Amino acid sequence: MLYREVPKSGDKLSILGFGAMRLPEKNSGIDHEKATTLIRHAIDNGVNYIDTAWTYHGEESEKFLGDALADGYREKVRIATKMPHWLVSSRQDMDRFLELQLERLRTDNIDYYLIHSLTASGWREIKDKGVLEFVDAAKKDGRIRNAGFSFHDNTEVFKEIVDSYDWDICLIQYNYLDENHQAGTEGLKYAAEKDIGVIVMEPLRGGSLATNIPPEVERIWDEATIKRNPAEWGLRWIWNHPEVTVVLSGMSDISQLDENIRTASEAFPDSLTEDELNTVRRAAKKYKELVTIPCTGCNYCMPCPVGVDIPGCFDLYNSGEIFGHNDSSAKHRYLLYQMGILGERSSASLCVSCGKCVEKCPQQIDIPGKMKEVEAQFERPVVKLKASAMRRILPVFRRVGFLKYR
Ligand code: SF4
Ligand code: SF4
Repeated sequence: MLYREVPKSGDKLSILGFGAMRLPEKNSGIDHEKATTLIRHAIDNGVNYIDTAWTYHGEESEKFLGDALADGYREKVRIATKMPHWLVSSRQDMDRFLELQLERLRTDNIDYYLIHSLTASGWREIKDKGVLEFVDAAKKDGRIRNAGFSFHDNTEVFKEIVDSYDWDICLIQYNYLDENHQAGTEGLKYAAEKDIGVIVMEPLRGGSLATNIPPEVERIWDEATIKRNPAEWGLRWIWNHPEVTVVLSGMSDISQLDENIRTASEAFPDSLTEDELNTVRRAAKKYKELVTIPCTGCNYCMPCPVGVDIPGCFDLYNSGEIFGHNDSSAKHRYLLYQMGILGERSSASLCVSCGKCVEKCPQQIDIPGKMKEVEAQFERPVVKLKASAMRRILPVFRRVGFLKYR
């Protein structure tokens, strides 16, 4: 296993992190026996960063991890978990959530505590509720050792959050198809320049870049001078960036874990040759040729006067074009972020066809026309009803939520 340092603390983290969001399951819950074996096998082979969250596995993940890290395993790893800011209604709630998380994880401190899944509006709200004061206090009294945030919005918002606090780490979605989406390469470099450790999630887009590979892309991997499977190509490409500290993988079986540990043992920064990088570029280009909306994520069309997240909508639509419109992760993300469950609504159906974006688009995309296609794909009546119900329920849940946990 290779290790990289968190710039501000010098803490040495394994470049492969264990994401505890896709653990093996049994009877609609975590299969404790299999998942414990898996996590301990990872730790025995050098993995020292485990990432969980309040919400993973229907709120079972943290509690499970507390049990799985008994017998001396807790001392061998850094635990990262996250504040579910959308359930937080006050500054006091932040302390309550953290206390419950410490209990669930059976520990006195969280090594890396992140504000979960920030968007522009989520950030504004939680900041107004005093999250930075909370982080300062929790770091001072030792309940958390390092602070960070996970992120799902555009580069501009990412930079704003980076500049708002002396963060230790951040968690971003990044892979060879997302160089220009969300934080993107620009965000990655920006955070690294500020000495913030960068943890990467979705390195294989929820596994889509590792399985069901389109034949056109498969041919490119087959033609490469070095033989690697698609997952290995995807991971090596991310680790090739010196700015990346840890890559999270949601591993659910031992063979996948062993394969990733092997890959991680040789993934030095800047170790891919120009020929290897070209292979990945060709695969990314081929994927992009398979999409029907040629959006590059340049953001020139933004902001939309009614709040449509134009590149975000097109990215999720294109993801469906490549990986199949039954791709549940694209639907789920659209519901959470574009339909305004987490953050402000920014979906295609808001488009009023004003045309202001069209002249700014270097790809000359008929944006209002394409928004109709995105809406038809992601905003069927039942989804709109579900989103509207969730938007109404969430504030109520925030007010009474703690009754459930006490
Ligand atoms: S055409 Fe639609 S997406 Fe484009 S700026 Fe106008 S409202 Fe926004
Ligand atoms: S300007 Fe065009 S290519 Fe750029 S993000 Fe907007 S729609 Fe995509």
